[in-house]
Amino acid sequence: MEKMVRLVYFSSAVRDMALSDLKDILTIARDNNADKDVCGMLCYDNKYFVQVLEGERETVNELFLHISDDPRHSDVVIVSYDYIAEQTFNNWKMGYASSSPLLSALLKKLEQTSFEPADLTPKQTFAVLKYMSEHQDEI
Ligand code: FAD
Repeated sequence: MEKMVRLVYFSSAVRDMALSDLKDILTIARDNNADKDVCGMLCYDNKYFVQVLEGERETVNELFLHISDDPRHSDVVIVSYDYIAEQTFNNWKMGYASSSPLLSALLKKLEQTSFEPADLTPKQTFAVLKYMSEHQDEI
């Protein structure tokens, strides 16, 4: 059986993303990821993206390199890369959540005043993605 991995990264959007920009990204992502059996979650707030990708190792590696090249964001930083026995985000080809009172409350619990992914530990970043996957925006 192929090895399965979970990759989490954050990046900076090159500009404030409009809803239509995010829709463009998610429409393509959901189509492509469904073909590749990749699932995950994307959070966007404060001009930062945080994304988790789960799937077969080579597929996730290639997809990540491809996403990293996207001119809509920069300063891509890998937060964690782990082998996993099964996918956690398998209900979503690419789930999505953005700024919301729930996210603010969660960040407050993590002693953060705003969404600054560089200030979160890998464990906290995963907790944010997991929690937000259960409280998604429909887009
Ligand atoms: P093409 O449309 O031929 O793209 C060619 C090039 O143009 C690529 O470099 C592409 O990144 C870039 N591009 C496409 N649209 C725009 C635009 N509107 N403005 C500027 N540049 C553009 N794709 C996935 O398949 N799965 C994901 O999970 C995923 N997550 C993403 C997360 C983020 C934060 C971002 C910014 C993008 C994500 N994408 C994802 C999109 C991905 O980067 C590619 O745009 C997409 O896979 C299509 O690539 P392509 O080469 O087939 O398409």
